[in-house]
Amino acid sequence: MSTAYDVAIIGAGPAGTACALALRGSGLRVVLLDRAKFPRDKVCGDIIPSPALKALRTLSMELYEEILALTRKAEAPTSCLITPDGHQVRFHWKGRTFNSARLHFDEHLLNTVKKHTDVHVLESKPVVGVALASDHAVLTTADGDSLTARLVIGCDGANSVVARKLTPRSFDRTRHCVAVRAYFSGVTNMPERTNELYFLREYLPGYFWVFPVGEGMYNVGFGMLSATAAAQKLDLKKVLLAIVQEHPQVAGRFVDATQISAIGGAGLPLGGTQRPIAGAGFLLAGDAASLVEPLLGHGIDTAMQSGMLAAEQVKRCFASQDFSAAAMQYYTHAVQEKLGRKLARNYWLMRFLSNKPRLVSASFRLASNSLLQKWLVRAVG
Ligand SMILES: Cc1cc2nc3c(=O)[nH]c(=O)nc-3n(C[C@H](O)[C@H](O)[C@H](O)COP(=O)(O)OP(=O)(O)OC[C@H]3O[C@@H](n4cnc5c(N)ncnc54)[C@H](O)[C@@H]3O)c2cc1C
Repeated sequence: MSTAYDVAIIGAGPAGTACALALRGSGLRVVLLDRAKFPRDKVCGDIIPSPALKALRTLSMELYEEILALTRKAEAPTSCLITPDGHQVRFHWKGRTFNSARLHFDEHLLNTVKKHTDVHVLESKPVVGVALASDHAVLTTADGDSLTARLVIGCDGANSVVARKLTPRSFDRTRHCVAVRAYFSGVTNMPERTNELYFLREYLPGYFWVFPVGEGMYNVGFGMLSATAAAQKLDLKKVLLAIVQEHPQVAGRFVDATQISAIGGAGLPLGGTQRPIAGAGFLLAGDAASLVEPLLGHGIDTAMQSGMLAAEQVKRCFASQDFSAAAMQYYTHAVQEKLGRKLARNYWLMRFLSNKPRLVSASFRLASNSLLQKWLVRAVG
């Protein structure tokens, strides 16, 4: 295979599929490649945050309704934050949100792309090489194929090949979280339609969670700042099991529970950095652009929002026939305006609160106040 496209999107997660959907009707020849064959699992908490659904609704009511029609999901409009001193604060999210295992949600997104666009979807195609020439990029895949595209959109997640090949990278543990999760059934005494987030005094900055995903299943996980996990030499899989089996605030719910999946782990590149997310002939979106929200660790919304902003930039580039690094600055500014400032503020808030369990408890107690609660709901999305 050697094929020429206008646009190659690498990665068919929320960022890549949102970008593909936003390019619907553009008349461009678009290819969407993923290393996996869908349905594929993705280690995640499985909360689909309201800004993700809002972005879809803004793009197209038809596509929004189609995503909402996904049957394998759980409604959880309320989050219960349990403070280090055991106090509970309930939040009712303003916008539409639901939980769905990424196995189903991401497949549904990709099926929507297949149904509603002319995008050429290639699954089981790991991209291993990205080389930029003066007026096109050459992508090589693990099976030895190659294809060319005028523009490359790197939506290939936290370990993005595109970001590694085309931008300077250094790993900063203070800008990165690590998290693990497993699915359980038989968790008891869970409040209805509620996600539980436990901020445990022993494990800050970070939290343990129990999120319903439907059909009696719960996504149970634990994540924390990578720098703290490394400094304390924590094995997060062991920590997760220890919390479930022994923690006085949690273990009671798990007495009759069954672990129904292996524990999976993954990294979360936190937003709020100034690292390059675009250059001549390429753009990065989602985790590849380090856009995870630092306080609660959600990134499906920022992935979809940035994927759609990338699509806008693609259209701009083709309209002006300008694919230069200078032209891409528009995208960098758009992402910074829409997401970057808020992510940077939340990053510093997270660092300020880290290792201050009393302050975390006091802040959440204050958040019981309805005005502050409104602010917090807006702050984390
Ligand atoms: C434990 C955990 C819990 C989380 N919980 C939540 C949550 O509840 N809600 C939330 O909003 N966010 C959550 N996040 C963050 C969220 O998972 C990510 O921010 C989101 O998946 C980013 O979407 P993306 O499209 O950028 O990347 P991804 O979803 O990672 O998709 C990237 C795609 O690229 C493909 N790919 C990778 N490399 C290549 C390659 N070389 N060639 C071709 N294809 C490739 C992958 O197969 C994948 O399909 C969590 C993350 C973790 C780790």
